[in-house]
Amino acid sequence: MRIIVQKFGGTSVSSEENRKKVIEKVRIAINEGYSPVIVVSAMGRKGAPYATDTLLNLINDNFKYKNKLAQDLLMCCGETISSVVMCNDLYEAGIEAVPLTGGQAGILTDNNFSDAKCVKVEPKRILDIISQGRIPVVTGFQGISESGYLTTLGRGGSDTSASLLGVALNAEMIEIYTDVDGIMTADPRIVKDAYLIDVISYNEVFQLADQGAKVIHPKAVEIAMEGNIPLLIKNTMSDCNGTLINNFGDRKHKRVMSGITSQGDRIQVSITKDENKENTKYNDILELLAANKISLDLINIFPDKQIFTISKEDRKLLENILKKANLKFNIIDECSKVAVIGSGMKGIPGVMAKIIKSLSDNKIEVLQTADSHMTIWCLVHSKDAINAINILHKAFSISSTI
Ligand code: ADP
Ligand code: ASP
Ligand code: MG
Repeated sequence: MRIIVQKFGGTSVSSEENRKKVIEKVRIAINEGYSPVIVVSAMGRKGAPYATDTLLNLINDNFKYKNKLAQDLLMCCGETISSVVMCNDLYEAGIEAVPLTGGQAGILTDNNFSDAKCVKVEPKRILDIISQGRIPVVTGFQGISESGYLTTLGRGGSDTSASLLGVALNAEMIEIYTDVDGIMTADPRIVKDAYLIDVISYNEVFQLADQGAKVIHPKAVEIAMEGNIPLLIKNTMSDCNGTLINNFGDRKHKRVMSGITSQGDRIQVSITKDENKENTKYNDILELLAANKISLDLINIFPDKQIFTISKEDRKLLENILKKANLKFNIIDECSKVAVIGSGMKGIPGVMAKIIKSLSDNKIEVLQTADSHMTIWCLVHSKDAINAINILHKAFSISSTI
């Protein structure tokens, strides 16, 4: 049995016309001798009647935060409607399909509502449906906890469902269909000249996704990588070959940069030794914040100061903790972390120099930097982020060398 998992995102299933394109992709797979397993997201984006964000607007924030179980049950409705509607359209096209919730498809999770982790996949029901010559249409984003509650896998989690099923079914390929031609060097909504990447490694895409590129969920990349199942990102609306994601990446072209992305809503916190001379808690700051589950990054410790960034969401909590400890601190609000990613930058001198020069030539203030073997981060004011991404994209996309 040659199984292929085909996941269709929100825009792909949003209208009857788009779902016709979905059916074309399913037919191609069948004609190539595959048994397709379809995974669907909720129909449409924010504002569409059954989109996840629209459903979330039906309940109040206070209720939401205290009743994650109820929130998950509500969010599950979007994908549930989508899978039934998709089966309806497949039926009309003469293809027999069976809608399945995440739980019915065998995705078992922990009880961590709204960000549940899969503990096991039991794909027997899917295999039975396939052996009857029918097509399973699984609701993405969902699982069931061991105590029987419906759970969701984190926003954007239908990609995760596709990878979980792809690995459990030992699929030949996991296809992720969306509204762009594949993984591009930057979000095409931000960088007009962003171009398609034909082949890229799991590691690079994981890093891109983890650092803000919304095109695929980082967990989906991680799961497919662990199962060594190739991922193919494609456009439902075009016949473009898309982007193949595998272990090796692009062995033909030597690129320094594979992609640029950014994360907004960061704040930079700096705490100087001088301002906190008498305070013994100065050396315990990182521990104190960790104990309160505040996640830090771009951490730089100098002899005379400590600098790091946190999410804007944690600002109030951080202020309370530091004030309680009588620590004086400075904050720069509205920051964005721009990441230049590429396995080709390893060992190549001058990448950071080029980044800094390009940004400073264009009068963009760099508040902080950090680097790893395949990523360089620059913290900039959010008002400069789009400009910074475009400048860096231009600086790195023309030539493959420094
Ligand atoms: P879906 O509903 O199909 O899951 P998403 O909105 O989650 O679609 O992801 C697709 C979007 O990801 C694109 O419309 C694009 O704007 C955005 N995106 C961000 N970074 C990139 C990138 N590097 N390459 C391609 N698309 C990107
Ligand atoms: N519908 C869910 C969301 O909007 C899951 C997904 O689309 O992947 O987050
Ligand atoms: Mg998505």
